[in-house]
Order: sequence, then C-alpha cells, then structure tokens
Amino acid sequence: QVVNYAPFTLLPSAVPSALFEQAYAVQQDFNLLVDAISQNKEFLEHTLASTIKVDDFTARLFRIHMQVLEEGLAQSVFLGINRSDYMFDCGADETPALKQIEINTIAASFGGLTSRTAAVHGLVLKVLGKSKEASRLLPNNPSKGLALGIAKAWELYGSQNAVVMFLVEEVQRNIFDQRCVENELWNRNIRVIRKRFRDVFERGSLDDAKRLYIDGQEVAVVYYREGYVPSNYDQQNWEARLLLERSRAVKCPDIATQLAGTKKVQQELSRPGTLERLLPGRPEAVARIRATFAGLYSLDMGKEGDKIAAAAIADPDRFVLKPQREGGGNNLYGEELRQVLEKIRDSPERTSYILMDKIKPQPAMNYLLRAHSPLQVTECISELGIFGVYVRQGKEMVMNKAAGHLLRTKAIEHADGGVAAGVAVLDTPYVV
Ligand code: ADP
Ligand code: MG
Repeated sequence: QVVNYAPFTLLPSAVPSALFEQAYAVQQDFNLLVDAISQNKEFLEHTLASTIKVDDFTARLFRIHMQVLEEGLAQSVFLGINRSDYMFDCGADETPALKQIEINTIAASFGGLTSRTAAVHGLVLKVLGKSKEASRLLPNNPSKGLALGIAKAWELYGSQNAVVMFLVEEVQRNIFDQRCVENELWNRNIRVIRKRFRDVFERGSLDDAKRLYIDGQEVAVVYYREGYVPSNYDQQNWEARLLLERSRAVKCPDIATQLAGTKKVQQELSRPGTLERLLPGRPEAVARIRATFAGLYSLDMGKEGDKIAAAAIADPDRFVLKPQREGGGNNLYGEELRQVLEKIRDSPERTSYILMDKIKPQPAMNYLLRAHSPLQVTECISELGIFGVYVRQGKEMVMNKAAGHLLRTKAIEHADGGVAAGVAVLDTPYVV
C-alpha cells in the first residue's frame, strides 16, 4: 500500500464574492429540487425513458428503483448529500457569471480533505509575508456539515445500537477524505463500519421488518462512496445494491436520488416549465436555480435533436457532449465530439448523451503541486462546488443546509476531469 498526499495548488485562487454568495444562496433550493425529483416517479420515468433504452447502467439502476417502489418503500428517513459544481463563465461582455456544471447526488467527495486546505493556504500566504491576506481566507468545514446530516439520519432511524456503514471502493484511493467525515461521527459516539459491496453480498441480510444486518450489526445509515459507475458492479454487487435498497436503512443516496443526479435529468430541468412543476409555489427558488443553468440540449430522436446535433457538428467548440457517467474523463470536446456525433447522429445511440454549452472561464496563473510532477507556473481554471445536506422524515424536511465549499483547479489544457481523475487539484477560494 502506498500513501500519497492529495494534490493542491500552491496559492489560493481568486473567486468573485458575488458569485460565491450566489452559489451558497441557491444550495438549499437545489436540495429541495433533488429531493422533489427523487419522490416524483412519473418525472423520472418520463425523463429517463429514452436514456434507459440505450444506456444499460442507467437502465439497471432504474429497474431497481421500480422494483423497490413496487414492493413499497421500507425506508422512511431520507438523507441527501450532494455537491453542486460551477464555473465562472466569461461571456461576450466579460462579466463572469455563475454557471452550473452538474450536481453530484452520490459519493460527492473531497468534503473531508478540503476542510484542511484553508489552513494549508493560510500558512503559505504567511510564509510569503501576506498575513493580512491569510486572515481573509474563509473557514470551511464540510466534514462536520456532512457528519451532522448523517448523525441526524442515524438519530431519526432510532436504534442506539445501529451503526453507520460507509460503502467503500474495492481499491481505496480516497480513504483519508472519508476518514475526516468518519471521525466526526465517532466524536459524536456513532459507530462507523467500512464495507464493500462484496461484503454485503456475502454477509448482509434483511430481517422480517427489512432491517439491514451485516456481521451481526444493525445498519442505520448506508453512505455510498462507491456505486456510481458501471465498473463498480458485477452481478453480485448488483444483488448487494438491491438488498441495500430494499432495506429500511437510510441510504445516502437512495436509488431515486442517484437517478435525480443523471445528466439527462439535468438537461430536462432546463426545459421551460419543468422547474415550476417540480417546485410549485416557489417562484423565487425557481428563479435562483434557473439563473445558474447553462444551455442544455436533448439529443432525443426528432427534429429538436437533429437540429442541435447539426449545430454541434458545425461548431463543436461551442459544446460539450456528455454521456450518463460520473467521475470525470467521460465527456467529449472539440474534434472528438464532432467525430462521435457524426457517427451516431442518425442512431438512437445519441440519446444516451446530452449536449451542453461549453463554459469559458477566465484563466489565472498558479502552481499545481502533485507527487512526481514537475513544479511550474501553469495557466489554470477553477470549479467551485457547494455541499448540500438535507434530511427528510416522511414528508417533513427536518434539515436543509449548505455545508461548505470545495474549489478545484486544473490546467487549461485539460478539458475534462476532477481530482480523482488526476487532473484537478484542491484549492481554496480567495474571495475578492
Ligand atoms: P462528471 O460527472 O464526470 O464529473 P462533469 O459534468 O462534472 O462530469 O464534467 C467533468 C469535467 O468536465 C468538469 O469538472 C469540468 O471541468 C468539465 N466540464 C463539464 N461540463 C463543462 C462545460 N459545460 N463547460 C466546460 N467544461 C465542462
Ligand atoms: Mg463533475
């Protein structure tokens, strides 16, 4: 086993204060929206109908969702931990605007490690003789915010002896990020266990009341840090996932909430009238959410899809082509976008993708510190994420919060990819 440091920028990056505040202000709205989608069977069914015909992974998740609904939900407490990601788009008039890249509703990571980055950058600034600037870095502690949500869900589940189970990867590359959240739970006297899908398959079971047990311990909360890409699953792991979803345990997220985070859902949300239907009686929330949307386009078969496919083939640098995948490195840009789209433009295969306007942030200079990588000043762009946490019991929202932020920065030559993909590094916003 090898221990390595997480990559980070040498210096914090400037973030416009108005956009930073806007991102925080819209987070509770996004929490409500994701939660509303997860409870709206018709919306998910209708929205994902074309996608599940061609995308096997989304289809399998969807089948579990339907099966669990048919059996009747055993779960009555719901916990959402998401991260809404943005870039600062510099349009024609050069004033940056907050534009959402995506919202992650499963395994949104780096809340733990980023709880430490402000201290790192504060020290660097002091060493550079910039104590005044160091004191302006904002405190940020998502690990605590995430843990408070998990603790609330654990408490409402209502069994003193039950544990929180982190469902973790086969090969654990980001364990310390998870440990930060775990330690906050131990500090509150909540027991945490770490298991993989295969442990659940081999030793997990449900009792008559659909309580989940593993190794003799009752599980109150399942916190997924795995299960968001096809390679996480073989047949046994799918069976384990089904068992977890059928149980009474609070899943973070439940499968409906995972589906609410698909790129196809994101694209359908941008259609006129959709947000209003999902959040009735909340015009202000709808306006705040809509203000963050970039152009998003369906590639479903028909005139609308034909037209946008032709536009993207003619001018690929205006767009990003996105499949229903998470984790970075899956999107297509530029010449590659054009070639792929040309090949599939007349085939239903195109409906497994969406098109999105490409966001163009203003680059800034920084140093990216990464093991085994040369140190040089680099032209970079940043992506701001806000963590959202909410807990619902039956129909009642009992917690709805913004739980901190994450700034990730990468060299401009990488169109795609996050920290886990080895492209972006951890950063701290210097709000200006
Ligand atoms: P994933 O689920 O794989 O993380 P994202 O939608 O977050 O997918 O895209 C991955 C990365 O690609 C982002 O972190 C961002 O750097 C880049 N990206 C995604 N969408 C856009 C866009 N519309 N404009 C510019 N860059 C984008
Ligand atoms: Mg992403």
